[in-house]
Amino acid sequence: MKKVVKFGGSSLASAEQFKKVGNIIRADESRRFVVPSAPGKRFSKDTKVTDMLYHCYELAEADQNFAKALADIKARYTEIIEGLGLSLSLDEDFKIIEDQFHSIAGSDYAASRGEFLNGKIMAAYLGFEFIDAAEVIFFKENGEFDSEKTNDVLAKVLENKENAVIPGFYGSMPDGTVKTFSRGGSDITGSIVARAINASVYENWTDVSGFLVADPRIIDHPAVIETITYRELRELAYMGASVLHEDAIFPVRKAGIPINIRNTNHPEDPGTLIVESTCRAPKYTITGIAGRKGFCSINVEKAMMNSEIGFGRRVLQVFEMNGISFEHMPSGIDTLTVLVHQDEFVEKEQEVIAGIHRMTDPDLIYLESDLALIAVVGRGMKSTRGTAGRIFSALAHQKINVKMIDQGSSELNIIIGVSNSDFETAIKAIYDIFVTVAI
Ligand code: ASP
Repeated sequence: MKKVVKFGGSSLASAEQFKKVGNIIRADESRRFVVPSAPGKRFSKDTKVTDMLYHCYELAEADQNFAKALADIKARYTEIIEGLGLSLSLDEDFKIIEDQFHSIAGSDYAASRGEFLNGKIMAAYLGFEFIDAAEVIFFKENGEFDSEKTNDVLAKVLENKENAVIPGFYGSMPDGTVKTFSRGGSDITGSIVARAINASVYENWTDVSGFLVADPRIIDHPAVIETITYRELRELAYMGASVLHEDAIFPVRKAGIPINIRNTNHPEDPGTLIVESTCRAPKYTITGIAGRKGFCSINVEKAMMNSEIGFGRRVLQVFEMNGISFEHMPSGIDTLTVLVHQDEFVEKEQEVIAGIHRMTDPDLIYLESDLALIAVVGRGMKSTRGTAGRIFSALAHQKINVKMIDQGSSELNIIIGVSNSDFETAIKAIYDIFVTVAI
């Protein structure tokens, strides 16, 4: 068994957190390849080292004195090194960083140092080899991640290693300059390393005990999802549920490697297992609920619309011409509704209305704003009768007016449109009917 373990910023924010991480790694000798983030927040008002680095580099770029900002960053690392009782010195590294900032090495280089330095500390603390991600993670000339070259090189480099620390978040361009993934990108590095070594599992350690059935800002202590498929995760993530960087899914998904989300502060919790497919039924019929506010609907009515070939295409063409992507398009016999993000739509609303008139000559167009969409997601819905019925009776019970219903053809999700003002109540009602009653 070979495992890749990735630790997020809050898991590595202080010496105390590092010690928890050390215990987790030592508790299982198959945890051989470690991908650290940069130190995150120690308390809620604290600043992440990555943000400190971006700020410090901005000063350097503006030709302002950045000595104090860099010293503050160094202090974060010194605190960890001393707290762990290590004899490691980062003086040389900080000298190089200072020089590189003076010669304007780029904000990606600057940000990447957060992971680079934390990786060095982690390697010294664990007695593992340190491998600079710039030597094993590659981007193409056009800035895209070069998955095949990376996989070849990384697989070779790691082949005969007992263990190693590979910092997350960055790699290198063909000319050797450092480039980072987007924010939160250490998740991607972990996934890439897991694929390269054919890991049995990619453990992603963070500060929550997995994916939650619903947003904890709406539901008090929601249940944790034990097992979720990649497709369900995509549906929930799209609707705003986030724990993992979206691009972290692709490398491991291709290789059929499961991801296990775990909590550094509660290592005894099993967390959430993300898999390609599973026979395990979800605990509560539904796997999760997620949603977002801020949509509006454009309703188009025309008598005999059903027999007019090309009607839908012409309506959508207007959106395309105005550069607006649409989210859903439920339709009736003589009506068609297009749901879009309100903030994207507002500026173009009159052009769109005029365009639809020109292209389709409808009887009526009316807009409805301030809508929320809620996705009820679950592989279990396909084989369970009455799921939709339960959802709608729960909503009716709370006197919530359902403005739209859309069931994906995969029967993996039901999307419900309600007023923004009913959003929280609706999520509570759905959660209660499936989860609270089952506990
Ligand atoms: N340190 C980077 C960030 O804050 C990358 C990561 O933590 O995954 O976005």
